[in-house]
Amino acid sequence: MLIHAERLVTADEVYEPGLLRTEGNRVVDVGPWHSSGLGSGGSGRPDVEVGTLAPGLVDVHCHGGGGASFSTDPVTAIEAHRRTGTTTQVASLVTETYDDLEAQVRMLAPYVASGELAGIHLEGPWLAEEFHGAHPVALLRDPKWPKVERLLDAGPVKMVTIAVERTGGVEACRRIAARGVVAAVGHTNADYETTVAALAAGASGATHLFNAMRPIHHRQPGPIVALLADPDAALELIVDGTHTHPALVAYIARTHPERVVLVTDAMAAAGAADGDYILGTLSVAVREGVARIAGTNTIAGSTLTLSKALANAVAYGVDPLVAVRASTVRPARWLGLDAGDLRVGGRADAVVLDEDWAVTRVMRAGEWLA
Ligand SMILES: [Zn+2]
Repeated sequence: MLIHAERLVTADEVYEPGLLRTEGNRVVDVGPWHSSGLGSGGSGRPDVEVGTLAPGLVDVHCHGGGGASFSTDPVTAIEAHRRTGTTTQVASLVTETYDDLEAQVRMLAPYVASGELAGIHLEGPWLAEEFHGAHPVALLRDPKWPKVERLLDAGPVKMVTIAVERTGGVEACRRIAARGVVAAVGHTNADYETTVAALAAGASGATHLFNAMRPIHHRQPGPIVALLADPDAALELIVDGTHTHPALVAYIARTHPERVVLVTDAMAAAGAADGDYILGTLSVAVREGVARIAGTNTIAGSTLTLSKALANAVAYGVDPLVAVRASTVRPARWLGLDAGDLRVGGRADAVVLDEDWAVTRVMRAGEWLA
């Protein structure tokens, strides 16, 4: 299939106009449009003409969608996000008992082996009680190594969220990173110094920066300033207009364009109606698209798709190319995933974006999705 794009965005280039050619599920040519030199027999006439073409979106923090959680009905959750443009998905699990988490990791492992999922993210149980968010306090634990290792050994875990101030937290970051797994600082009451130590030990970014972590104080800068000041730390942002103020999103993307990672942190109600849902073991009420622990004001994940997060970011003033790369190549490189780019030999995952930078068509593994 030969595609002509008025604008083609890859991880490192923008071609206006651009060319993408696929064979089967792979990209075989990408670059500036050239009507000649398409090979003997090539007419130079494209099979498909589109406006803006970008790599398929990559979401490294998402709990579910379409009415389902990854832990209970992964097929429905995968489908809900895939058809809106997220062609690479990491399944996030909220805090439960070690036995339940191990069972969930084992249940999801075949979906990673088959390529339907790119990996698993353990968001808990190693979180701070003071910033537990939508995680049950009674099940939070210190990251003791044999216990952490047990869950990493259970299946393809690609990312772990850690409150690094918990006993053993910094050492856990070192050991997790040594296994090639991302250790992300999050749901944390850590001070600045402890966060710096965790980043030096191997932690490489923030789980939803600003949300569920000790806020900035000018005499106690805390985890946020340590993460912002680190030259390499990835910075997850939930860009739904509720979790982070639009002006803050625009400011962080302008000051740290190479490090912002858009995530949905979506729960089951993403791509589904308002109503009452379950997140892990907790009841969540979704009203007007905002998910809260039932009977409280605590936000319990979002109802975003990554397509919506991308369009929101642009609407809030983020440079469109920064926003595209924050939802494609940045998360992919952070977790070491072969995704988030359009390159020869890579899987042919792409999205067509409209003038508002929202996804209108999705290609996964060389096939246009309905
Ligand atoms: Zn969270």
